[in-house]
This record gives sequence, C-alpha cells and structure tokens, in this order.
Amino acid sequence: MMTRNRIRIFATADIGHEALSRLRERGYEVEVHPDTEAPTKALIVERIRTGIDGLITTLRDPIDEDVLSAGAGTLKIVAQIAVGFDNIDRAAANRYRIPFTNTAEVLTEATAEFAFFMMGAVSRKLYPSEKLVEENKWTSWHPYHPFLGDEVTGKTIAVIGTGRIGKAFAKKCLGLDGDVLLYDPEERDERFVDYAGREMALRFEAGFSKKRCEVRYGSFSETLASADYISLHVPLLMRGESVTPTWHLMNDEAFRRMKKTAYLINTSRGPVVDEDALCRALLDNEIAGAALDVYEKEPLPADSPLRDPRLKDRLRLFHHFASGTRETRLSLDPHIGMAGRCVQAVIDVIEKNYGGDLSKVPYVVNKEAFR
Ligand code: NAD
Repeated sequence: MMTRNRIRIFATADIGHEALSRLRERGYEVEVHPDTEAPTKALIVERIRTGIDGLITTLRDPIDEDVLSAGAGTLKIVAQIAVGFDNIDRAAANRYRIPFTNTAEVLTEATAEFAFFMMGAVSRKLYPSEKLVEENKWTSWHPYHPFLGDEVTGKTIAVIGTGRIGKAFAKKCLGLDGDVLLYDPEERDERFVDYAGREMALRFEAGFSKKRCEVRYGSFSETLASADYISLHVPLLMRGESVTPTWHLMNDEAFRRMKKTAYLINTSRGPVVDEDALCRALLDNEIAGAALDVYEKEPLPADSPLRDPRLKDRLRLFHHFASGTRETRLSLDPHIGMAGRCVQAVIDVIEKNYGGDLSKVPYVVNKEAFR
C-alpha cells in the first residue's frame, strides 16, 4: 500500500531487475511499464499526473511540453537511460525546472567498438561471406569469385564528432596503421592529438606500422574528400539548436564529395543521415558502402528504401544495438552500466545528494536551469 511520503518512480521500460531492486531496497515504489513496446505518450502523461516523483525514460519516449508540463511542481527527475537526449525538450524541462539526466561515459567503449566492428563487417563483407556458407553456395576457393572486400588496414579513417565516443573510436583505429582525420566544430582536443601522434610514431619506430601515420583535425570538406571510412559520433542537433546542426549532415552534397570507394558508418542518430540521399548515393555508386545502427524512423519501417535488395551486400543494417552489451546495459555499477548509472542519478536527485545542488549532480544534463 502506497503511503503519501513514499517515493514513486515510473519506468517506461524494464531497465534491469538488479538496478530497479536497488531503488526498491531503499523503499521506493517502482512501477515498470510491462511491455517491451514503449508506452504511449498519453500513458506517460497519465502516470505523471498521479504525482510520481521520478520518470525513467528511454530514447523511444517523447519527453516534450505535454509530458513535462504534466510534471510541473511534482516531477523531480527524468532519468534517461541513454547518452543522447534528443527526445527530451530541454527548454521545456528548464521552464518547469525539471532536471533530466543521461548515462554518458558508461556506454562509450561499447558504442565505439561496435562502430569499429561495423566498419570491418561492411568493408570485409562478413555478412555475404557467412550467408554463402549458410546457404551452401560456397562452391570453390577462387581468387576473386564471388566477391572481394576492401582492406581497412592502412586506410584513412575520419571521425566526425570527437567527444567521448568519437575519441574512443579513434583510439581503436590507431591499431589499423592508417591516418586518422578528426572533425569537430566545437571541440579540439590537442592533447589527444599529441598523444595519439606519439603512439603512431612509436608504432612506426617499432616497425609495427609500415608508414608513419598521423592523427589530426581537418575541415568537414577535407574529411569528406579524403577519408576511406567516415564514422559519425555527433549528437542529433536540429536547425536552430546549434550553429552547426547535425540533422542531415550527410546529405546529397556530402555523399557527392566522398570518394567512390569510401564507406559511411553511423552509430550516432538516424536523422544525421539523409536516408534517401544515402540510397541514391549507393545506387549511383557514389560511395562503396555503409553500415547503420540508427535510422530516421525506428524501428526501421518495412517499406524503408534502405531495405532495397540491391543494396544488401553494401549496406549493413543493425538494430540500434551499439551499446548493447550485457555489462554496459545492465551493470548495477554506476561506473560500468547504464542501468546502474540511471538509478544512481535518480537517487542523487531525489535524495538531494551533492548538498541538494542540482547543478552539481554529475549526470544532470540541464544544469543551467539550476544555477
Ligand atoms: P559527446 O557530447 O561526448 O560528443 C559529441 C561531439 O559531437 C561533441 O564533441 C560535439 O562538439 C560534436 N559535434 C556537435 N556538432 C557537430 C557537428 N556539426 N559536426 C561534428 N561534430 C559535432 O557525445 P558522445 O557521448 O560521444 O555521444 C555521441 C552521440 O552518439 C550521442 O549523442 C548519441 O546520439 C549517440 N549514441 C548512440 C548509441 C547507439 O546505441 N547507437 C549509443 C551511444 C551514443
């Protein structure tokens, strides 16, 4: 039975039994949306109107004016289990003085390594190769039949967005003994460039690498024109939200500037890539291939042009899975897992840790509203 003082949390998805138990053990009443499908916005609003203290959300939930206004004066936290928060209306959250948190850092390595493996998978044709064996169509060993892949080692890799995940991805690329080009209009981490350059120099000195490779920042047009692989690690920023928005950053013009032999990897957010333009670029052989983990509309609609069978072997599609490791998704440790970090954020805000100063709670994103 609910008592008036009991902290009440509604989670729009089951974020993991252990993490939710941590809240329950502290006496919180936790209600979890029982379906694997997301609740409707109307249901979220209805739960908020019952006076819940905390809302645990996923990137599937539109946390907009309707949702946040329903929580004015009662809702103490929106705890998002993701680093991206483009589904949350930050201005509205600030207006109603509702802090929202994300799960940055704990998913950095998992996402970066997935992007790294996607790059290898599409370039070395892992899926067509497996399919050949699976369908028993592997008839003989031949120097080039039925297809060949493109070697990643020694090639130029461009990293668009050099925040947490972009740099983690770049670090993994250092072992591929090619140049790494970085592009970011806001952040320029010279220390990273310096140390990465020293690592490249050491690899060359040791004879691990045949050429002395470089890591450096370049312009967007330079990265487009000279990279063999382009990996996107930017937040989704709409026009008006940034002077350098990322919505449809990869559009017709960008694809036209890429090498015909180049590949695009996207683990950031779907709308960063204009999917129609990508399909055209692939069909017109303007680029060699692409691998996507995120889409303009998720889950990917049955009639999406990305499902064109002609693109299958050059366009590999994944189900927004880049952070999907057991450790990263479920660990109760706030330094390892998204679930652990998400509930830690709930506890910190609700229990007024950090002296009750919301601008000091590490995972609060909209700190500006509380300064
Ligand atoms: P971050 O904030 O640390 O880094 C983002 C970087 O992008 C920043 O350095 C920023 O300056 C840069 N940037 C902004 N606008 C840019 C532009 N126009 N061009 C180039 N760079 C630009 O974020 P992060 O933790 O590295 O995460 C990046 C994004 O990855 C998240 O916002 C999220 O959308 C996505 N993500 C996806 C998955 C997945 O499962 N597929 C998992 C985690 C994160």
